[in-house]
Amino acid sequence: MAKVRKLWALQLLEEQQEKQKLQIVDPALVKQLKLLKNEIEALQNQLKDLKGQYQSAKEEVNSLERVEAEWKEKQGQLNEKIYDGSLQSKEIKNYQQRLAKLNEELTSSEDKQLAVMQQREDIKGMWEEKKQQLTTVTTQYKTLHENYLRQKEEIKTRATDLAREITELTQEIGTEELELFRQLQKKHRHPVGRVTKDTCSGCHLGISFDKIKQLKAPGAAVYCNHCGRLLLWDPA
Ligand SMILES: [Zn+2]
Repeated sequence: MAKVRKLWALQLLEEQQEKQKLQIVDPALVKQLKLLKNEIEALQNQLKDLKGQYQSAKEEVNSLERVEAEWKEKQGQLNEKIYDGSLQSKEIKNYQQRLAKLNEELTSSEDKQLAVMQQREDIKGMWEEKKQQLTTVTTQYKTLHENYLRQKEEIKTRATDLAREITELTQEIGTEELELFRQLQKKHRHPVGRVTKDTCSGCHLGISFDKIKQLKAPGAAVYCNHCGRLLLWDPA
């Protein structure tokens, strides 16, 4: 049978197609992408939090500065009053006490302001560190994602190529033989057996002498005397 070799080729292509349908993008890659995505989201949230903290610290410094400005003005007024000679000595003492208290408050406020400013610097440092981490992780993610898309595309291309090759081959084979092949497939999913060393590749059993003789003389279809597969004579 002249077209057995083509039917054999069709069988090989269909086997490839079956395997190909099970092909997926590397699961380790998919897992890695998910992990990186979570990491990116976590870092974005941390950056948002730090930005909020930085803003609060900034507002706190501003408010401390406003209060200090008021106190300094008051300080000036008290000083002026104490030294302008308009007060009795008893009143002077009272004013001096008020001034001392104000000075204390001012010092404490300035200390606090320095502390908050330092805190703000720390937050800024942390923010920059996280931002750098985000850049690194995002770059990693992008590279892996490109890899993922490429793998997906390759799988798709291979599937399209195989489908086209199968269509072309079935056209070459023609209706009659193709129908025979499909008919035989009802019994065996891969219905062509290749005979290399007097053995059928389908059932791995030896082919009878008579069948070998028939195979060697080109002509009608020859079937395996064990499994019934259509035989392709293809000695190595
Ligand atoms: Zn067989």
